[in-house]
Amino acid sequence: MAKKQFKAESKRLLDLMINSIYTNKEIFLREIISNASDAIDKLCYLSLTDDKVGLNRDDFKIDIIPDKTARTITVRDNGIGMSLQEAEQNLGVIAKSGSFKFKGEMEAEKAESEDLSIIGQFGVGFYSAFMVSDKVTVISRKYGEEKGVRWESSGADGYTVSECDRDEVGTDVIMHLKTDTDEEIYGSYLETWKIKALVKKYSDYVRWPIKMDIDHQERRETGEKNNDGSPKYEYYTVTANETVNSMVPIWQRSKSDVSDEDCITFYKEKHRDRKDPLALVRVNAEGTVSYKALLFVPGEENNEFSGTNRIGITLYSNGVMIMEKCEDLVHDYFEFVTGIVDSPDLSLNISREILQHTRQLHVIGQNLEKKIKGELEKMMKEDRPKYEDFFRNFGIHLKVGVCDEYGRYKDFLRDLLIFYTSEDKQITLKEYVEAMPESQKKIYYATSDTVKHAMGLPQCEDVKSRGYEIIYLTSPLDEMVLENLREQDGKSFCNIVTDDLGFETEEEKKAAEEKEIESKDFLDFVKESLGDKVSKVSFTRKLVSQPCALTTDGGVSLEMEKYFRHGPSEEMRGIKAVRVLELNGEHSAVKAMQACFDSGDKEKAKKLAEILYASSELVAGVDVEDPVGFVNLITELF
Ligand code: ADP
Repeated sequence: MAKKQFKAESKRLLDLMINSIYTNKEIFLREIISNASDAIDKLCYLSLTDDKVGLNRDDFKIDIIPDKTARTITVRDNGIGMSLQEAEQNLGVIAKSGSFKFKGEMEAEKAESEDLSIIGQFGVGFYSAFMVSDKVTVISRKYGEEKGVRWESSGADGYTVSECDRDEVGTDVIMHLKTDTDEEIYGSYLETWKIKALVKKYSDYVRWPIKMDIDHQERRETGEKNNDGSPKYEYYTVTANETVNSMVPIWQRSKSDVSDEDCITFYKEKHRDRKDPLALVRVNAEGTVSYKALLFVPGEENNEFSGTNRIGITLYSNGVMIMEKCEDLVHDYFEFVTGIVDSPDLSLNISREILQHTRQLHVIGQNLEKKIKGELEKMMKEDRPKYEDFFRNFGIHLKVGVCDEYGRYKDFLRDLLIFYTSEDKQITLKEYVEAMPESQKKIYYATSDTVKHAMGLPQCEDVKSRGYEIIYLTSPLDEMVLENLREQDGKSFCNIVTDDLGFETEEEKKAAEEKEIESKDFLDFVKESLGDKVSKVSFTRKLVSQPCALTTDGGVSLEMEKYFRHGPSEEMRGIKAVRVLELNGEHSAVKAMQACFDSGDKEKAKKLAEILYASSELVAGVDVEDPVGFVNLITELF
């Protein structure tokens, strides 16, 4: 039979597996068992709606059959099986399998065969069989098909695949073990004690019974007597087919039996994540709706696991998987949470449409959200750097959640939000209000593209000098969040650039207005000099050491304008902030400009106005419209 070639990347991985110097070769058994268990899950699920499957839940099992004479170890399952095409597709290529992720990591870390220590931190899948075997034969028959398939490979040089007869649905993976070497006794994988230990170590939680023939020594009386009159015994071997795993899934076991560490190991193996999860939520609820849940907040927002690839929460009913990635359990703001929910109160054959309206699911979802929130709040209190890490990864989901559905969830989420008050400090709004001095009436915030830029805004100076903190926002979404939150503990939000800071008395305001009227000609002149760059020029009392600042009038801020500039439609890209130039009348630069104007040197006054405007653009973090013109104006001053 003609050999077929593996796809390039599969071949490379195979090479790694075959020549692996990795000491943890034993994980191959876990991988093959886990595939068998997945295959049974699939057929068991099918059997819920398809009577023709003809198997009960109790009939499913995985057999491990070592054969010392043939030097093979076979893992047999009565799961869904593979068709010829599937065998070729699934075993001939590393497609979406864990092996692919592994390969990506290998490349990323430039870890060629000399550093294989990372193998085994992931599921490496079917190919791991080649770490211990020089030949692997797979014989399978898919449910619903008449014929079976025989796939065989001795490694990187290719594989053969052909139709064959097979009576039962399911799969045999027959691994022909390599010859023993000084370093590795491959033959040990044929020993019952060794296999048993490996199953306990790696596959104890597999839901299906893993069965093996196990020999026991027993003794019986021969009927004869020893010299001292005691009975004589003879020893004989009894072989019993036993289940070697405890089967109860980790989430079904009591908290006292399973440590947090065990749960974390489970998470890493299941999700093929090298990083520990940031948080773990374990629930065992008994009541109107009973359920067990084991949920995780992943270590980081991983592109591979975001969007449609998100792992999400898997629903089980009494240990039988009923739905992967159940999106109706928790709201989108917690969509990054992964894990398992198992409830005997959920019906087994349930569709996504029905599930949406299932009362039990709502109850479970609500409870879980409270638990997740509680866990996050605990993290925030006990380990702020870790919480910041969490927020950097997943904060955006919470922010979007606040704005979703007209702010319906804002009060549930508000205490989970943190905001920058300096480049290395983030606090909640509650903490902000608690730390406010008596005299402070509002929550001040400033917006720019980075915290650093926001901190450099000239309007900050006055607020900070009064001992008031400022919250620095770095995206239009942040502004929308505050808009939706409306207030915190009765304190309203104040944009230090565009809003009244509330520092002035009525008299002071009046005096300022009078000054503005007095200087009308001057302000009109500046406005005219700048043409349609600005809609208005006015005096401000918000500035201390800076001569001027660029602000906006109306709903569109400079940050929003920047954001819209990359928008999808022409219309969106055309959205502009209405610019206002605010001048600090007490500043020598403004005084100098006004003096030029008063003395009739309008040409110079105009140039100074242009320089001040361009510098206000710079400080506000927006692009100077005409940088060359700006530099020319400055050099002319020398
Ligand atoms: P992964 O399990 O991560 O998808 P593997 O390389 O372990 O990657 O397996 C590739 C695919 O081969 C599986 O996704 C499955 O479709 C198929 N497969 C492997 N073992 C079995 C089995 N025992 N029964 C049915 N299908 C199997």
